[in-house]
Amino acid sequence: MSHAASPRFDAELLARHDRPGPRYTSYPTAPQFSPDFGEGDLRAAIARSNEEPLPRALSLYVHVPFCTSPCFYCGCNRVITRDLVRGPAYRRRLEREVDLIAPLFDADREVVQLHFGGGTPNFLGNDEIAAFVGQLRSRFRFGDVRHADLSIEIDPRHADAATLRGLRGIGFNRISLGVQDFDPVVQQAVNRLQGEPETRAVVEAARALGMRSINLDLIYGLPRQTAEGFGRTLDQVIAMRPDRIAVYAYAHLPQMFRAQQRIDPSELPTPADKIALLGLAVERLLAAGYVYIGMDHFALPFDELAVARRKGGLHRNFMGYTTHADTDLVGIGASAISRIADAYAQNPRDLPDWEAAVDAGRLPVWRGLVLGEDDLLRADLIQELMCDGEVDFVELGRRHGVDALGLLREAAPKLDALARDGMVQRNVDTVRVTDRGRLLMRVVAACFDRYLAPATA
Ligand code: SF4
Repeated sequence: MSHAASPRFDAELLARHDRPGPRYTSYPTAPQFSPDFGEGDLRAAIARSNEEPLPRALSLYVHVPFCTSPCFYCGCNRVITRDLVRGPAYRRRLEREVDLIAPLFDADREVVQLHFGGGTPNFLGNDEIAAFVGQLRSRFRFGDVRHADLSIEIDPRHADAATLRGLRGIGFNRISLGVQDFDPVVQQAVNRLQGEPETRAVVEAARALGMRSINLDLIYGLPRQTAEGFGRTLDQVIAMRPDRIAVYAYAHLPQMFRAQQRIDPSELPTPADKIALLGLAVERLLAAGYVYIGMDHFALPFDELAVARRKGGLHRNFMGYTTHADTDLVGIGASAISRIADAYAQNPRDLPDWEAAVDAGRLPVWRGLVLGEDDLLRADLIQELMCDGEVDFVELGRRHGVDALGLLREAAPKLDALARDGMVQRNVDTVRVTDRGRLLMRVVAACFDRYLAPATA
């Protein structure tokens, strides 16, 4: 199958096609969510999800927005504070939200995935996290610990071996660490000073504790980044042998993300240098035996994601790639997004709004969307493209009880433009992303996005 091969890096192709655009952790994407979607709509979606013939498993996402200092490249929803007392107060509200939402799900629905993201989840401290996970376990039915994924994003600057031991004791079996770049010059420019030894200590502690998966995040395109410095970072990261490595592009959008205004644009690499940094990462990671999963993610060949990629069992949701099929995702905490039955619901992004809703005993819904038939069809199509690199439109149509070939015909002019550059192969009823197109997967997916501005292909 096509996806077993490695992506082919072509700087010229990337320069022409790579534009900021959706990453399709959802379709439709979050900007399409409407404030008309409210608490009643979320309750109705949960009720519909309970009516499935077989109880559908649940994934839980918990957002912890606090960080103690701002990284200047950050585009996350976070609140900068050194006031650790905010942790327990936040945890109590998380528990209130769980008390509101958990009873709405049928009791036989099993939690197979729990993820803490942020912000910095370990801002909470292990006692708070343990108390909250305990409450989650009392309100939801958790599956067998051997199969459930409990994962948490960790800031290594605020964690040590004892922290990791505590988290393992709570049940966490996967961790994800931000690295970005170990080059001190870059770290100064982005206000994130984090030594390689402290990061390695956390990785080694996690491995010694038998954590099932360790992920490290890198970013290319940061100020003062050079091929030499980033190359060194790649070597250091590869030497730690994490199961998974994500390599994200930095997008400089200072109007959208205030923290980025503190980055000096004259220190950013040129577009060509930025692409070369990606090329360096792809080359080094593949040479070190990592497999490209898709959308910035690499994994060791026997990591579950790599196995799922080969066998066709890969899925994608707001948390990225996963092996868990067909779960309903329940987002808890400020800004968290849920995907339940045929609906998306997002909690208020601003902390005071989320707090006010929870304090008033309301399900905190800011905006959302019930997917129509066309949305569901396109969501399935984009998911398949992102995970398998190939879509059979006859099969897709059969699953939805419609003729899906119309979608292929509609996207044909855009797809053919990409085909001329060797990025896709379009046949009468299939589309396949080639090795040349794999690093530009989201550009291919965008051909099927009904909400994007009309054709520029
Ligand atoms: S990058 Fe992570 S740690 Fe840094 S400010 Fe953003 S959320 Fe916090």
